[in-house]
Amino acid sequence: MIVFDLSCEDGHRFEAWFRSSSAFEDQSGKGLLMCPHCGSGAVTKAPMAPAVPAKGNARPAAPAKAEPEATSQGGALPPAVREAMQKLARLQADTIKDSTYVGSRFAEESRAMHYGEKDAALIHGKADAKEARELLEEGITVAPLLIPFTPPDETN
Ligand SMILES: [Zn+2]
Repeated sequence: MIVFDLSCEDGHRFEAWFRSSSAFEDQSGKGLLMCPHCGSGAVTKAPMAPAVPAKGNARPAAPAKAEPEATSQGGALPPAVREAMQKLARLQADTIKDSTYVGSRFAEESRAMHYGEKDAALIHGKADAKEARELLEEGITVAPLLIPFTPPDETN
């Protein structure tokens, strides 16, 4: 079935269903079509309605096209961020290379060095938030490692 917008000689518009396009031509040729409004037999296909321009169909397609781009961006870090992370990771790896891992003795070791009980050295280890705060309050400089770090004693 196919629907056509039809109009009569008086400009009445109406829709009519036909089995096919040729069925319309056939019925139209035999004068079988009639305007339901005025009964006129002078019925032709209505010109494309200017109220339904092709533009109206094109607009909803635009957001659908943009969707895959948004998905791919959401799945990965922007290159600039990834680069900054890699730089930070290298910097941290360099620092740790010259640093001694002291594990959970971090607070104790930091304090010992701060008060001159031990020679100053670069160390890293574990400290909970409370320990870190206490160290800072005592004027001992501590800095969190920015990149997740696997302590040597936890790799096995
Ligand atoms: Zn009519």
